[in-house]
Amino acid sequence: MTVGVLALQGSVSEHAKLIRSVNKKIDVVEVRTIDELATVDGLIIPGGESTTLRILVDNANLYTPIKARVEAGMPVWGTCAGLILLANNIEGERPYFGLLDATVKRNAYGRQIDSFVTEGDFADMYINMVFIRAPKITKVGEDVDVLSELDGAPVAVRQGNVLATAFHPEMTKDNRVHRYFCNMIENKV
Ligand code: GLN
Repeated sequence: MTVGVLALQGSVSEHAKLIRSVNKKIDVVEVRTIDELATVDGLIIPGGESTTLRILVDNANLYTPIKARVEAGMPVWGTCAGLILLANNIEGERPYFGLLDATVKRNAYGRQIDSFVTEGDFADMYINMVFIRAPKITKVGEDVDVLSELDGAPVAVRQGNVLATAFHPEMTKDNRVHRYFCNMIENKV
């Protein structure tokens, strides 16, 4: 299995390290080009700055191929800014990929200095959740499963092959959310 991490900006090496720790047999590819995208079975879109990431994805000519692969069933996981790019509704802004039936509000959990760590359920696990200028998911569609909630708002969601977390599992030492994503790829959803 080959897992790609979109490597244009953000917490790329942290994601790659935790995927490798799930199983030594998994290959991790940093994706910057169309050819690299073609080699992966699943893709992580890391956190960073969504406004910048949009531009970088456009400039790398990766918008159409990523969208097409995900529409064809390739598992994708967006963390934080990655979630913003996947959502089909961004309050006050144009959506980007529109692959997840959810509305997000950018920076709704406060500024960088308001970053915080909390804990809660994720699917059937109990995990630490790191929030860094995270978007709030203010609405989800009927086909979206809520995997985690914080104060009544979804913070991890899944719609078929699309997984999105408002928090950053790659900023912890716990690889269970990465394992969950690898299972999505393994089972080809
Ligand atoms: N605040 C960033 C944005 O709106 C996301 C922050 C992050 O990915 N840690 O794009």
